[in-house]
Amino acid sequence: MEKLRYERPIIKKMNSGLMNKFGTRTEFEPVTHIESVTVKSLIENFGSPLFVISEKQIRRNYQNATRIFKTRYPKVQFAWSYKTNYMNAVCKVFHQEGSWAEVVSGFEYQKALGNGMPGNKIIFNGPDKTDEQLIAAARNNSLIHIDHFDELYSLIRLSEANNLKPRVAIRVNMDTGIYPKWDRFGFNFENGQAWNAITRIINSDHLDLVGLHCHIGTFMLSPSAYAVAATKLCELTWSIKEKFNKTIQYIDLGGGFPSTNTLKGAYLPGSDTVPSIDQFADAITDVILGYGFKHDDLPLLILETGRALIDDAGFLLGTVLASKRLSDGRRATILDFGVNSLFTSFWYDHRVSPAQASGQHTEDMVLYGPLCMNIDIVRESITMPLLEKGNHLVVHQVGAYNMTQWMQFITLRPNIVLIDTDNNPHVIRKAETLEYLEAFEQVPEHLGHNPLK
Ligand SMILES: *Cc1c(COP(=O)(O)O)cnc(C)c1O
Repeated sequence: MEKLRYERPIIKKMNSGLMNKFGTRTEFEPVTHIESVTVKSLIENFGSPLFVISEKQIRRNYQNATRIFKTRYPKVQFAWSYKTNYMNAVCKVFHQEGSWAEVVSGFEYQKALGNGMPGNKIIFNGPDKTDEQLIAAARNNSLIHIDHFDELYSLIRLSEANNLKPRVAIRVNMDTGIYPKWDRFGFNFENGQAWNAITRIINSDHLDLVGLHCHIGTFMLSPSAYAVAATKLCELTWSIKEKFNKTIQYIDLGGGFPSTNTLKGAYLPGSDTVPSIDQFADAITDVILGYGFKHDDLPLLILETGRALIDDAGFLLGTVLASKRLSDGRRATILDFGVNSLFTSFWYDHRVSPAQASGQHTEDMVLYGPLCMNIDIVRESITMPLLEKGNHLVVHQVGAYNMTQWMQFITLRPNIVLIDTDNNPHVIRKAETLEYLEAFEQVPEHLGHNPLK
């Protein structure tokens, strides 16, 4: 005879389902499908935990964002931020939609080439570019965004020595009214550093200044900060035309638009508070259009939006390993994924849904991962139905930064599945194996024998 399940009765706060002074609505509603594929079949076929990405959602996001900008400004180009999610399949969806590549390291640059990007559609950002990488990027006619004076001098020296004239931009940092300031990347606007760099580039015969770049932060909640950034880049563009009679071809406003995730400590959910892409687009394009450029001098507007285009296309499916009571009586649910896979749980209160119907009883609980580490907490406090061992759940909006920042720690990384536009699932990165993990390990010979002998 099977043992019946018993849950000790508890006293709990009323939670009527709507926002009240104890918090937001409870996740009763099960999420049983991703696109039209059942969570159950995904886990049966590809294991648990499992990252799932919706190709349809990526394309929707991309088309929506480009429509928003292109209906406001005549010349717009997006460049996919590789570090946000550099699974090749994901990058290729963006490239198919028309996006260029934005990379911040040598291997990301190689990945972009491998994904079929022509060199002249790769933007090479970041403070760490080796001489070899700079030469290769210059030969490929890529857009090199210079980060600091040391890089500027290296690039002039390398271009002279190799008889190259790379297309460059400088990254500009500035006071946009958002603090702490992001002033560690690029050349400062207010103290004249940016203008100094511009003068040096224009006076060098070996660099072609074609653009100006900034990336003012990430998960930015203030469209007006972008208006300030756009104004300052327009100011530089204008002065370059006036002083040197040189037309800057593009202004690159970087990324940083928020997804609708909820930041830890926020009182209201992100979906209710985060400004829409339209608001950012209004702020940016109003400034550039209103600045007074002659029509032929209107710069191309480049955007390197990452998070806002991919976050809601990614899901993490998982399984309950156990539930227990903490010493203070609180319920704890232990899941088969932790902060090693879901890195963004360090700064987001992710929305988590049960993947099957459950009773009407809900309780405030902690969601722990499986790691033997006290910091392994997926949600510190969430009101959910009583999940039992073997139940599945779905974490929403995990497409950005998790599949690049995840750690191989205690458990191996799981499969990633892409659901295509016809709802067929494809594995786009296989679950790691012990063999994969040890492939680059080497044991010195004196340790090779059986240590117990
Ligand atoms: C990370 C990064 C991006 C993308 O940022 P999001 O916040 O994901 O939009 C764009 N440009 C640069 C230079 C970056 O470093």
